Amino acid sequence: MVNDILQQLNIKPENSGVSTGTVWLEATGDYLQADSPVDGQVISKVKTASHKDYDTVIEKATAAFKEWRLWPAPRRGEVVRQAGEALRKNKEALGRLVSYEMGKSLQEGYGEVQEMIDICDFAVGLSRQLYGLTMHSERPGHRMYEQWHPLGITGIISAFNFPVAVWSWNSMLAMVCGNVCVWKPSEKTPLSAIACQLIIQDVLRANNVPEGVCNLVTGGRELGEWMAADTRIPLVSATGSTRMGKAVGAAVGTRLGRSLLELGGNNAIIISENADLDMSLIGCVFGAVGTAGQRCTSTRRLIIHESVYEAFTQKLVKAYQQLRIGNPLDENNHVGPLIDKAAVQLYQQAITEVKAEGGSFLVEGGVLEGDNYTSGCYVKPCIAAVENNFKIVQHETFAPILYVMKYKTLEEAIAMQNGVPQGLSSAIMTLNLREAELFLSQTGSDCGIANVNIGTSGAEIGGAFGGEKETGGGRESGSDAWRAYMRRQTNTINYSTHLPLAQGIKFDL
Ligand code: NAD
Repeated sequence: MVNDILQQLNIKPENSGVSTGTVWLEATGDYLQADSPVDGQVISKVKTASHKDYDTVIEKATAAFKEWRLWPAPRRGEVVRQAGEALRKNKEALGRLVSYEMGKSLQEGYGEVQEMIDICDFAVGLSRQLYGLTMHSERPGHRMYEQWHPLGITGIISAFNFPVAVWSWNSMLAMVCGNVCVWKPSEKTPLSAIACQLIIQDVLRANNVPEGVCNLVTGGRELGEWMAADTRIPLVSATGSTRMGKAVGAAVGTRLGRSLLELGGNNAIIISENADLDMSLIGCVFGAVGTAGQRCTSTRRLIIHESVYEAFTQKLVKAYQQLRIGNPLDENNHVGPLIDKAAVQLYQQAITEVKAEGGSFLVEGGVLEGDNYTSGCYVKPCIAAVENNFKIVQHETFAPILYVMKYKTLEEAIAMQNGVPQGLSSAIMTLNLREAELFLSQTGSDCGIANVNIGTSGAEIGGAFGGEKETGGGRESGSDAWRAYMRRQTNTINYSTHLPLAQGIKFDL
């Protein structure tokens, strides 16, 4: 089955990991082994970008920008429309590859490709809506307005857990804005990236898009470091851990470039005494165990009103007992593997730390063994009763560990929800209007995403996506997130016969 997908997507046993969109370069870096956490099998090998390859790509991208920025935005949008069509045709195969290479469930693999299609549609419309404002000048016979111009190269550094969608959020918007892109995918999921590049290359070629508009460079952390330090890249959009974001933000900041950071979350749901508990249960369980707890928006903490704590945790425990853990390509399973054995170790360490800090487990964790779990990456989703100020609870562990805690007043619950260094996604489950509105008010959630009666994960592309504090402050995808990919220019035009100065200043010769 896997061989069929690879054949369909034209992935070879050995692949170059460097492309300029229309041309694959002979990569000269080290080999990267692409393997699957589903069964531990090596899928294929990827030749990574050496520094010389990277430089070649940046030179081609720089040259391509000079041409691409001259294409009218709706014409660039037409290329993106066709990219969306190509993704539609390949949704099933690409979704399967994402599921196999990353380990998320097949439904989530398809969902990720659907997100790519959706953002293409969004970007096509956007290509006719890159609006600037017109202002009234204080001077007679003058007109003032602002316009948005492309920036140049958008560097995209992406994480393993959304191996393809994050690229499309950035690249499809950046391209309609007139930028060219250089994508460095996670070294843990290089094949999904190569598959995307193969899918869109025919579209780029058929439309005579210049070589260098949509580039791929594969490699590890050092490649990301080259991008962060490179003055030829005016905007670096980086998705990943807070540790990585601090390094990238500092390197880009040193050269006063722009960075768009999408980093870790520590997302909580408040379960009020006025919640519909049955409905809340689905949001909480999917949020905590979906993608095996490896979403930036995964639900990590439940802050539960003391009056419903017993009833709700009992429901949770019962639901966890029904979870089926196994091969994510089998649609009967709810939970797949973690990305690799290093992630399994971090999960085990976190469990040890919870116990050391005095937490107790309502549902015990553990690593699964046996014929169905040969990769060694399958773990049991678990639930621990903790205090919000435990060191381990303040930290994002990228695994299905759900922390539960009690509250008495909503103010206290909001303080707990906000009382972590991260600020990505948050939710309240309540049927009480006052509670919901307080949670959404300026004294409520401090996160970039705040929901009522839905969970923390599973955002739609139409809204701006991102978070505050250690989540990095960046916004991607919908709303006016496109502005991050452009530079604003204010223009004042004098059509009078005089040259009056602003603020009434007199200057006569
Ligand atoms: P990671 O930080 O280990 O790696 C992410 C990417 O950054 C990879 O491509 C990696 O090669 C690169 N990188 C690592 N160190 C770098 C450095 N010093 N300079 C430049 N590049 C560097 O993250 P991961 O394990 O792949 O992904 C999981 C993390 O990503 C979690 O913290 C998760 O919350 C976060 N994430 C956030 C969002 C969001 O939108 N906020 C979305 C997805 C994932």
